[in-house]
Amino acid sequence: MNDDVYEVVIVGGGISGSALFYELSHYTDMSKIALLEKYEEAATLNSNARANSQTIHCGDIETNYTLEKAKKVKRTAKMVEKYCLQYGYEDEIMFKHQKMAIGIGYSECRFITNRYKEFKSLYPYLELYDKATLEEIEPNLIVDEQGNGRDEEIVGMGAKNQYTTVNFKALSETFLKNAKKNEQVQADIFFNSPVDKIEKIEDIFHVYTKDKKLYKSKMVVVDAGAHSLFLAHKMGYGLHYGQLPMAGSFYKTDRAILKGKVYMVQNPKLPFAALHGDPDVTLDGATRFGPTALVLPKLERFKSGTYMDFFKTLKLDGNVFKIFYDLLKDSDIRNYILRNFLFEVPYLGKRAFLKDAQKIIPSLTMNDIEYAKGFGGVRGQILDKENQKLMLGEASINTGEGIIFNMTPSPGATSCLGNAVRDVQLICDYLGKNFDEERFNKDLTEEDATNE
Ligand SMILES: Cc1cc2nc3c(=O)[nH]c(=O)nc-3n(C[C@H](O)[C@H](O)[C@H](O)COP(=O)(O)OP(=O)(O)OC[C@H]3O[C@@H](n4cnc5c(N)ncnc54)[C@H](O)[C@@H]3O)c2cc1C
Repeated sequence: MNDDVYEVVIVGGGISGSALFYELSHYTDMSKIALLEKYEEAATLNSNARANSQTIHCGDIETNYTLEKAKKVKRTAKMVEKYCLQYGYEDEIMFKHQKMAIGIGYSECRFITNRYKEFKSLYPYLELYDKATLEEIEPNLIVDEQGNGRDEEIVGMGAKNQYTTVNFKALSETFLKNAKKNEQVQADIFFNSPVDKIEKIEDIFHVYTKDKKLYKSKMVVVDAGAHSLFLAHKMGYGLHYGQLPMAGSFYKTDRAILKGKVYMVQNPKLPFAALHGDPDVTLDGATRFGPTALVLPKLERFKSGTYMDFFKTLKLDGNVFKIFYDLLKDSDIRNYILRNFLFEVPYLGKRAFLKDAQKIIPSLTMNDIEYAKGFGGVRGQILDKENQKLMLGEASINTGEGIIFNMTPSPGATSCLGNAVRDVQLICDYLGKNFDEERFNKDLTEEDATNE
């Protein structure tokens, strides 16, 4: 082999790229791989603990998942849990909290009760909580502003002893650290290496960073978050997709108002999870409410620039206008978008947000919450221009020519190891390398009896 040619170069050191780096090093016979990350450390964007809700989305309380989708996410979510248990990261990177989805009012309560019956077969640990039980285990759901009990009907379905929460930045860092432990593999990590251009010359990819450094590789996987589609477009791939960056912000309290995660019933028309309350592991368990959803004309939150990158990946044309028109003509979606704009406006935003958060905690006041400055991220939602539709969830472009582009808005952090193993198989097929599937399954996919 040409000495300066890598077998695989991964672009992006968020949770997706780091998980792939780990799996390639640990479960394949690769001998030389590299990861190029734009910034000075891993996971400073969406995989940062402040950017996302830190939730292991395993499908039990996500009311927008069908049973089929829940089965899939359960399998990949379990991988994260098993990985953390294997390395002893409990209470350091992965945490247990109680969790539940609540229904409020007649129809939501019927919905949750029916869902509980349907989903219990897949998640035997699920419990149904009536008002009295909720008052005991999550009292602030029940008491209203005057200290009286909540009048409306309320029911919850959830669990008390499951791993629910992960610091995904810390997890990304462990993937990189543990990947380097395998001495059989040259696993190189290059920080401060923004990839600017990728071209294929004969069978080898030439990957150039902004400062014109060249990395050669037989295969490339682009796990660059909202920039994956940007780099795909630069190479002429995925031109039938556009991207709409939806920022998510949060409000927070200065103390733990909730004991665990509380999700609400989601309106199926809306692409994002309904407002939820979560204990934040970087804030000593203080409660974080959100995320909101707001179109932001840039691809990276809390970093300078990327406005032009936004316009380039939006690929504005008649098809994109048609997608927007179809979305906006639905009054639920229109109101949701307007309301989410309002959440960002000082004072007025807080008032409006409080009203929504009071659906979870009736006694919440203006003094209890503040806009969480520096918290939040960007979900790059894919616009399918051919079918004139906003795609929900993740997308991947496998060109079949040795380069893959992954777009992972949500729940990409939970599915990091699952997405990575899909790519490991593609990579091994393409390069004629071996994947130790048996060891992978034994380590990461068997059911874990200890947590049932
Ligand atoms: C508000 C919000 C809440 C969320 N909540 C959850 C949740 O509770 N649970 C869950 O599972 N998921 C959640 N998600 C989704 C989750 O955060 C993402 O799916 C996940 O972090 C994506 O990881 P990634 O590695 O693909 O992308 P990113 O974390 O964005 O990482 C991409 C990396 O690529 C690097 N990069 C970009 N361009 C280049 C380049 N040109 N060259 C080199 N490197 C480059 C970036 O610097 C970055 O490090 C949430 C997202 C948001 C925004």
